[in-house]
Amino acid sequence: MKKKWSEKCPVCNGELVSSKTTVDFYDGKVILRDVEVQYCPKCKQELFTPEQMKKVDKLMEGIHLQQVSLRRHLSESGRSLVLRIPADIARTLHLTKATEVELRVKDPKEFVVEVVA
Ligand SMILES: [Zn+2]
Repeated sequence: MKKKWSEKCPVCNGELVSSKTTVDFYDGKVILRDVEVQYCPKCKQELFTPEQMKKVDKLMEGIHLQQVSLRRHLSESGRSLVLRIPADIARTLHLTKATEVELRVKDPKEFVVEVVA
């Protein structure tokens, strides 16, 4: 089922059709199936509208976060222990050096790191 979009392809000005595609992120760790995109049959471009992009981002964050379970060893720095945040998680949560987090111990085997600002 293909429906025409009113917009033209920004690359070749061809007619765009809506199409379903599979997108993968993080080297295939997160795969979204049946994502609706605008497809240009002429130059074979798959285009996301900004709204779709946002939706994909949201979806991806949700899926990605649910799937994140990584084992890490703590390292030592002075008298403190250091927990390194994997780059994928940092990117997804928009963490930077300036990010403030709050550590809360939930029980003897679990603690929560909450992003404050
Ligand atoms: Zn095109």
